[in-house]
Amino acid sequence: MIGGGIAGIQAALDLANREINVYLVEKTPSIGGRMAQLDKTFPTMDCSICILAPKMMECFRHPKIKLLTYSEVKEIKGQAGNFTVKVTNKPRFVNAGACTGCGECTAKCPVSVPNEFDVGIGKRKAAYMVFPQAVPRVAVIDHENCLFFQKGVCKICERFCQAHAIDFNQKAQETTLNVSSVIIATGLESWNPVSITEYGYKKHKNILLSMEFERLINASGPTRGELLRPSDGKKPHTITFVLCTGSRSEKNRSYCSGVCCMYATKEAVLVREHNPECTVNIIYMDLRVYGKRFQELVSRAKDEWGVNYLQGRAAAILEDPATGNLQINYENIPEGKLQELNADLVVLCPALVPMEDNKFLAEILNVELDSYGFFKTQDQLLRPVETNVDGIFVCGYCQSPKDISESVTQASAAAEKAAEIAGVA
Ligand SMILES: Cc1cc2nc3c(=O)[nH]c(=O)nc-3n(C[C@H](O)[C@H](O)[C@H](O)COP(=O)(O)OP(=O)(O)OC[C@H]3O[C@@H](n4cnc5c(N)ncnc54)[C@H](O)[C@@H]3O)c2cc1C
Repeated sequence: MIGGGIAGIQAALDLANREINVYLVEKTPSIGGRMAQLDKTFPTMDCSICILAPKMMECFRHPKIKLLTYSEVKEIKGQAGNFTVKVTNKPRFVNAGACTGCGECTAKCPVSVPNEFDVGIGKRKAAYMVFPQAVPRVAVIDHENCLFFQKGVCKICERFCQAHAIDFNQKAQETTLNVSSVIIATGLESWNPVSITEYGYKKHKNILLSMEFERLINASGPTRGELLRPSDGKKPHTITFVLCTGSRSEKNRSYCSGVCCMYATKEAVLVREHNPECTVNIIYMDLRVYGKRFQELVSRAKDEWGVNYLQGRAAAILEDPATGNLQINYENIPEGKLQELNADLVVLCPALVPMEDNKFLAEILNVELDSYGFFKTQDQLLRPVETNVDGIFVCGYCQSPKDISESVTQASAAAEKAAEIAGVA
């Protein structure tokens, strides 16, 4: 299994529960993927980590699953039934067997850097736990920012670690695995909309991306869930979500990212839950709410939570430099005219794109990508998890835009195919 998001986790558990040995290779220090970063999940509004964490632990504890976190596949040879896979395991500089996850190294580490898990809007230490529910619960020392590695001083984490788990001599390790099939589940990332200069992302302080918003409103995020403007730390009175930022646009990504209408609805409801005084607008081209109970959530957002849906297309976002307030110029589609809308905070919902390193994986695995960089399947309708290489399957967002429940469904289908090859179908 390559990728430890919800799709990889589900496929791993399905296989392991049939007594098939699984190696789950995840490139970051913890499994969980995007779902671990989300606050709540549409359409049920469940707390995301509350439903994900038990599955992460199940993976960790399962005798048939071996987690290879902080690891990447470097080479693969062979064919269905007999692949040899070379995996490189990056050094954490913390002994996984000894670390108790107590957090003392993090507390004592003097270096603060932007936190990738909070999409850069919060800080973490150079000795850190990726997130509170990380699996495995083992700290990592970030080589690039650690004072000892960069300047030869400090080692304060080593002094305070009662478990004696810090090991500055750890080296990258290579492991060779023999497997009967491979499932790719490498997920998604947000497209960076800085190139849409008329929107001013990164230039105007009070514009966030949807994933940044998820972290901002999350109780374990940088503001402990308080919805505050980045420019002045004040509570916003008006928030506008701008859908299709780069999606469905010939200039950027022409496909629909699949989940944005629904997660924007969810995020809009969360704003109203946190701050009922705040006016919330969603600017959309057309609402794509196709799944079970999706329309119900949109109707509730409008009727119960008072979210305003404005059919339109944002042309430009301007900032008043004195206040940091924003003005959105947009085309009002039903009325066919240009209009202005003021907001204290704007949330852009950018195109969601496949991971850049899919290109490397495609090359070493010999599998095809489509023109957008998603893994291609043999036949979208009739063979939706099979790649062009026998014994290599795909599931989750890396195959095409999809939500959590679709990712889980496809993961189970991929696991079924892999089980056939392992001879346990
Ligand atoms: C802002 C936002 C809000 C969302 N809200 C919802 C919601 O409320 N409800 C819902 O149903 N869906 C929601 N989604 C969609 C949901 O995030 C995806 O459907 C889901 O995460 C897909 O799971 P996945 O496992 O395919 O990918 P991911 O969650 O992206 O996991 C992929 C994993 O693979 C790892 N990986 C990547 N490359 C490699 C590699 N080369 N080697 C090893 N590991 C690798 C990554 O580190 C990651 O852990 C939202 C998406 C966004 C962006």
